[in-house]
Amino acid sequence: MDFSVIIIGSGQAGVPLAARLAAAGRTVLLAERGDVGGTCVNAGCTPTKTMVASARAAHVARTSARLGVHAGAVKIDFPAIVRRKDQIVQRWRDGVGRRLQANGLTLARGHARFAGDGRVQVGGEVHEAEKVIVNVGTRPVVPAIDGLADVPFLNNRTVMALHQLPEHLLIIGGGYIGCEFGQMFRRFGAQVTIVQSGAHLLSREDPEISASLEEVFRREGIVLHLGANALRVSGREGAIAVQLDTAATVRGSHLLVATGRRPNTDDLGCGEAGIELDAKGFIVADDEYRTSVRGVYAVGDVLGGPQFTHTSWDDHRLLFDILTGRPHRGRHGRFVPYTVFTDPQVAAVGLNERTAREQGVRFESATMQFGVVARAIETDETAGVMKVLIDPSTERVLGAAIVGAEAGELIHVFVALMQAGAPARAIVDAQFVHPTFAEGVQSLVMKIPRFALR
Ligand SMILES: Cc1cc2nc3c(=O)[nH]c(=O)nc-3n(C[C@H](O)[C@H](O)[C@H](O)COP(=O)(O)OP(=O)(O)OC[C@H]3O[C@@H](n4cnc5c(N)ncnc54)[C@H](O)[C@@H]3O)c2cc1C
Repeated sequence: MDFSVIIIGSGQAGVPLAARLAAAGRTVLLAERGDVGGTCVNAGCTPTKTMVASARAAHVARTSARLGVHAGAVKIDFPAIVRRKDQIVQRWRDGVGRRLQANGLTLARGHARFAGDGRVQVGGEVHEAEKVIVNVGTRPVVPAIDGLADVPFLNNRTVMALHQLPEHLLIIGGGYIGCEFGQMFRRFGAQVTIVQSGAHLLSREDPEISASLEEVFRREGIVLHLGANALRVSGREGAIAVQLDTAATVRGSHLLVATGRRPNTDDLGCGEAGIELDAKGFIVADDEYRTSVRGVYAVGDVLGGPQFTHTSWDDHRLLFDILTGRPHRGRHGRFVPYTVFTDPQVAAVGLNERTAREQGVRFESATMQFGVVARAIETDETAGVMKVLIDPSTERVLGAAIVGAEAGELIHVFVALMQAGAPARAIVDAQFVHPTFAEGVQSLVMKIPRFALR
């Protein structure tokens, strides 16, 4: 064998796995065909949240008069925003590069594919290892919309490479990627129109959660076409038209397509290697990341489960324990929180009302407007709503969703409680600092009649 382990893809699981396995004495080959660090560092979390920060600064400056502060005219230096984003991405990429310069770790640049018998070809060379770990991630879906192939459309990667602000950005897709880019570009000064096939933005959330964000988007001047499918796209750079099945036609200067992600397995040689894929091309693996081929494991987005950086990173943690014979647990049954980095943020964990009903899970719930929280009033960050579901027999939290300022931080109150298996009553019994947004979490739980003060 050439190596103990071959890892394909330097994503959020591949990099820490490679570094830690090498530190544990394994010889590791890490194959990467693009920039090290994967989607999160290069085209996902890092660049988007860096640009979202600029967009928020513009919004705060533009609306500061509501707090009695007159900041003057706001000027957007879009090239400077993009430069700052590029510098921060480069800093993370360099950090990943340094982490990969470890004893026992070989970085092979190039496209990797299975060459049969557990061997892996990278560029022109074929390598063998006892174990192969697949961390190849996903790329944007290109939907089958008539005419789309003939117009210059953008995806999450290319939209952040623009150096000039679009005059009017059309977005097909009202999921988290479409929403984050939509609000960001609106706050930079572009006109923005979002076309969403579902009845609401973020269609997996309960309707009142989505509606709360829609209200903010509309107030900021984002045009929403909900329950609308794109039938046909036409035009050229600077003048693009999207014909909808609602009889409307929307027109803009640029088109961003954000309709989901597909796995990078079509060019991986999975068929020849005998690795089972599901109908959408995601790798089928058991609770301990084993694929249908002995010695081959898969981690991260390519499993088709919740596609988040923290989930992929947690996959690395669990698989490392499995591979090194430590006490371990499987990947199923984890609580997976997430945050949409709009403003206000949308954060959730566990079941919502729709999924609880679908699964026949009994629950008690409470909903509370974010705007009643003292801190929200004081800071004038009143948009949003909070919702929690508990199990009536154990009083444990089944799930929660928060639309509000710093929702991505607040949701961790529930994450920690759920992970500890503690009852929601613990929130009632705790002292929450006044005046914080987190106080609202306590007030929310106390709205469930059994926890109400009488
Ligand atoms: C716009 C956007 C914003 C996002 N924001 C967030 C966020 O805020 N928070 C969050 O948690 N998640 C976010 N995500 C999702 C997050 O980026 C992914 O869940 C995360 O990167 C985990 O992916 P991964 O480890 O499975 O693989 P990836 O990070 O996708 O890495 C896979 C790597 O494999 C390489 N590769 C693929 N095929 C081959 C091959 N055959 N040979 C060699 N190399 C190969 C690729 O080049 C890539 O580097 C965002 C995603 C996008 C697109």
